Amino acid sequence: MIKIEKLHKSYPIGKDSLHVLKGLDLHIKEGEFVSIMGSSGSGKSTLLNIVGLLDNHDEGNYYLNGQLIENLDEKKAAILRNKFLGFVFQSFNLITYKNALENVALPLYYQGMARKERQEVALQYLDKVGLKDWANHLPSELSGGQKQRVAIARALATKPKVVLADEPTGALDSTTSESVMELLKEINNEGMTVFVITHEEDIAEQTDRIVRLKDGVIISDERVDKTVKA
Ligand code: ADP
Ligand code: MG
Repeated sequence: MIKIEKLHKSYPIGKDSLHVLKGLDLHIKEGEFVSIMGSSGSGKSTLLNIVGLLDNHDEGNYYLNGQLIENLDEKKAAILRNKFLGFVFQSFNLITYKNALENVALPLYYQGMARKERQEVALQYLDKVGLKDWANHLPSELSGGQKQRVAIARALATKPKVVLADEPTGALDSTTSESVMELLKEINNEGMTVFVITHEEDIAEQTDRIVRLKDGVIISDERVDKTVKA
């Protein structure tokens, strides 16, 4: 689903540049539930933005669903994002003046779905995340956990192949975090590939595989042993 070979990324800083990803290799198969860990500033979001076609890499190869990603303009990137990817962010990124239903329906609008069908599909996904009764509420009327559920419903509504989540529990308390992770696990059990960034060990342990990033390279990549946890 995601194959990365010798990926490099630098940011220009004045006349200099900051080399963030230094030859990174990563292979995520369809249906995996993977977390990436690393300290703040280690390049986790940089990697996720490249995987999510929100930013370009400098060197190396990236294949999404078997397709080599190169020379993408914003229009082509948007088409691929719409087709394959769903995003969940720490700060939810909901539109404040739209209610829960309208937030979930918005990407369907961009896909060209008719209004009535959009509303039906959006309601179906709100129901899936347990918020059917909150459809008409604005984000400001929802708790943090509820907002993240709306964001997850929005990410799922377009039926992506991969959900990319950048610190999805970063703004939530531990109980709420757990329920958001359970929801991601459920989605994964239904066959979706889920890729989560976190800097919290106990969040990472709820996924099936932990990849650790340090100084721009992967320093470990291990399956989570569920038998120890039980
Ligand atoms: P993480 O998500 O692991 O905390 P990031 O990928 O956000 O780390 O950032 C990695 C490094 O790259 C940091 O030093 C950060 O300051 C720098 N950085 C991130 N985005 C940019 C940017 N758009 N321009 C310049 N530097 C950036
Ligand atoms: Mg980050």
